[in-house]
Amino acid sequence: MNTLTVLGSGTSTGVPILGCKCRICQSTNPSNKRLRSSVFLETKNKKNILVDATPDVRTQLLTHNVQRVDAVFITHDHADHTHGIDDLRPYCFHQKSSLPVHCSEETAHSLKRKFDYIFDRHRLYHAERPVIGGGIPELDLQIFHSNQIQIAQEDFTLFSLPHGYVQTSAFKHGSLAYLTDCHSIAEEVVRDLKASSLEWLIIDCVKPGRHDTHMGYEQTRVFLEAIAPQNAGLIHMGHEWDHEELTHTLLKDGFKTARPLKDGDQLRYS
Ligand SMILES: [Zn+2]
Ligand SMILES: [Zn+2]
Repeated sequence: MNTLTVLGSGTSTGVPILGCKCRICQSTNPSNKRLRSSVFLETKNKKNILVDATPDVRTQLLTHNVQRVDAVFITHDHADHTHGIDDLRPYCFHQKSSLPVHCSEETAHSLKRKFDYIFDRHRLYHAERPVIGGGIPELDLQIFHSNQIQIAQEDFTLFSLPHGYVQTSAFKHGSLAYLTDCHSIAEEVVRDLKASSLEWLIIDCVKPGRHDTHMGYEQTRVFLEAIAPQNAGLIHMGHEWDHEELTHTLLKDGFKTARPLKDGDQLRYS
């Protein structure tokens, strides 16, 4: 079996939100504490794949005692999914090799601009101007060349999903699909996911109602019904959601095998 660990289930601010006095941000229920959304895959072939590098990534990897990362998958270039990337540096030291970072061409373009000292390091540092000091992360971009790719020798099927002004790379690995940060899903992608009879669908659900760049509950429920996975986990939740109330709402609406994910959850899938 493969295992997915939820490193974070929260929206871009995390929950609680700094300075917010609302009842969810003040809640003492640990299920309402959400780091930024990210997951970690441990495959049945013993490969470790990190999905996104959030500003919380160091805490997330320490919490789960991750000793080795074989590859990183970046879903899109937003701050909450990429601004922890420098913290992957120690893995490059220990593993004595560069770490592949897999992403779309659009995401790669943005990462090169935001983190030129990492992804354009061979231009910035060379024989006449060597790296001095603590060293830089040896991360190498691997741009998706098709919808069927291998990451750390594992098969992934990719889907591009609309997310405001950018596209998010979603994936299917085995019988699990991971669809964070999107406001819709194209019809042919829905058909493909439905035909896969997924053991697990992880899907964006940022808040109740609707949202312009994410799925609000109104959008999420439409796709839960259309894709009809065996189990579903909601992710990227903001401070409008109380964990217990959302659990109850899903049951009341007939989604008996769907639940909000929480940080630290582990899902097994084939
Ligand atoms: Zn996000
Ligand atoms: Zn985003």
